[in-house]
Amino acid sequence: MRYPKLRELKEAIKAIIKGPYTNRFPYQKHTPYLRFRGRSEFHKDDCVGCGACFQVCPAKAIEMQDKESKRKFTVHWDLCIFCGQCQASCITGKGIMLSNDFDLATTEKRQDLKQEIEKELVLCECCGEIIAPYDQILWVAKRLGPLCFSNASLMLFYLQNLSLVTKEEAPVDKKQEFTRADRLKVLCPHCRREAVYKS
Ligand code: SF4
Ligand code: SF4
Repeated sequence: MRYPKLRELKEAIKAIIKGPYTNRFPYQKHTPYLRFRGRSEFHKDDCVGCGACFQVCPAKAIEMQDKESKRKFTVHWDLCIFCGQCQASCITGKGIMLSNDFDLATTEKRQDLKQEIEKELVLCECCGEIIAPYDQILWVAKRLGPLCFSNASLMLFYLQNLSLVTKEEAPVDKKQEFTRADRLKVLCPHCRREAVYKS
């Protein structure tokens, strides 16, 4: 019983000399500790648009919408529970990260507490179906290195990106018969099968 009392006395004297342990937030800025889990933020240059974060978010705070040739991500901070699953599952490790920012108090609508980013999608050159985001395919091709030449679509996409091959702009009519030339296009898995099988 003696030691704890002495210890508490020591702490009390320390607090009198040093001042309170708490700070005067919101009048004084508070800097959280390292690895603090604040609101999650997309980093557009490091995000490749794969959608893994959208799939694992337990609170459904991340929204993903594909429209025409764009994929839009929205993270709703009013729904986020700061669990960190999105950051842990991000395939690049840096596309979405939890920040130090914890102060979400607002006098505006809580629905406005969000961040949006857009990613360009690659469409099948035969049927116009979505294949994947541009950045994701490029990320895969770069990781594979020379192995990407074993996949026709991946190889063509990579060469198009280097401006070594020209890109077909208008999607071809779905009913059109596949020809041998269609094999040399960036195709969705379905059209790739049809092109190889029927041409
Ligand atoms: S921290 Fe958790 S709840 Fe918040 S966006 Fe990421 S996965 Fe969703
Ligand atoms: S790269 Fe990361 S942040 Fe971007 S969509 Fe995929 S998992 Fe989410």
